Amino acid sequence: MKFKRILLKLSGEALMGERQYGIDPVRLAEYAQDIKTITDSGVEVAIVIGGGNIFRGVAGASNGMDRVQGDHMGMLATVINGLALQSALEDAGIPTRLQTAIKINEVAEPFIRRKAMRHLEKGRVVIFGGGTGNPYFTTDSAAVLRAIEIEADVILKGTRVDGIYTSDPEKDSNAVKFDTISFDEVLRKGLKVMDTTAFTLSQENKLPIVVFDMNTNGNLLKVVSGENIGTEVNV
Ligand code: UDP
Repeated sequence: MKFKRILLKLSGEALMGERQYGIDPVRLAEYAQDIKTITDSGVEVAIVIGGGNIFRGVAGASNGMDRVQGDHMGMLATVINGLALQSALEDAGIPTRLQTAIKINEVAEPFIRRKAMRHLEKGRVVIFGGGTGNPYFTTDSAAVLRAIEIEADVILKGTRVDGIYTSDPEKDSNAVKFDTISFDEVLRKGLKVMDTTAFTLSQENKLPIVVFDMNTNGNLLKVVSGENIGTEVNV
């Protein structure tokens, strides 16, 4: 395996499957099976889950809601997704812990770095819910932050597009995919990989990001074993 400890970032929207809102149990079960293939081969897996399928603070604010209040709702949405993912992983036979950045002790463990790392060493998947615990941040920033804290080798950003392109492949048929690209080049070309806060944190800490298509079964295993099917952002 190319990577020993990974942080997988899944957006909330990924959990919707074909739906317009909420969580698709079939999609969740497929993700759980994919994750099982890599935990079975000894890879340590941490996951940061988004909340966009349920609520985004920015959307609330655009309808007149207080932004911080909306962000609190968004963070709670990520905890709901985390619980759903935990349930699907445990159904697939994978021991899993959910740790949250905001304390909800009856529901999940609080985020404790050393405990998270111990869980990973014991082969448990650790899901980080609640984002960073702070408003005005995204779960991409939470993903980079947690990845650095737990000393992950890489962030795997599972999306519905199979990598980073010269322009949006869903809009431009001439878009060309990069196999690898440097952090500097992403910034120079103004490409969208993560929000700027998250991307800069990753760059400063030399944490590689692999963007790949998570919706094709078997891709996660391919990426972790070193097959270049997506785009790797590196120094
Ligand atoms: N959020 C936040 N702080 C964080 C992470 C998330 O306030 O550290 C809130 C924010 O309102 C965000 C929502 O939670 O819109 C859901 O997260 P995100 O939009 O990153 O989810 P994704 O796009 O990955 O589904």
